[in-house]
Amino acid sequence: MKTDHLSETEIQQYIFDKTNCNNRIAEHIGVCDNCKAAVTTYQLLFSEIKQLPNPIFKFNLSALVLAQVPQKKPIFSWSDLFSYFMALILILAIVISGYLFRGYLTAILPPVFSSLLYQMATTAITITSFQILGIYKEYQRQTEILNIY
Ligand SMILES: [Zn+2]
Repeated sequence: MKTDHLSETEIQQYIFDKTNCNNRIAEHIGVCDNCKAAVTTYQLLFSEIKQLPNPIFKFNLSALVLAQVPQKKPIFSWSDLFSYFMALILILAIVISGYLFRGYLTAILPPVFSSLLYQMATTAITITSFQILGIYKEYQRQTEILNIY
């Protein structure tokens, strides 16, 4: 059932900002006793609320809130250092084994293909490195969003 009376939101809008509210609202309040009574009730309620003293807590509210705020992650962490160390070992293992066994690889392929192979390997390693770096940055960004330390 649709009523022609003003909504609670419209009445409160009229009370808080009479100059900028819709003309329809002001005109309706001027002619409708029901809505005019609601306006009077709201005005009385808001004036009583303004007269109430501010609440005073018997405990230190800011200390309780600050105790629950997570502390910032320290800049240095052992898990990051371990990750970098393992990545360095992996890269060194690939580079050293490639250097040590380069003779076998070039012996298998014709000389034309060996230089092409080095170029392809360099390109593949470069692209893979950037992709791993991108994945790691995305992982760090998502863990910061989740606030997991
Ligand atoms: Zn009305």
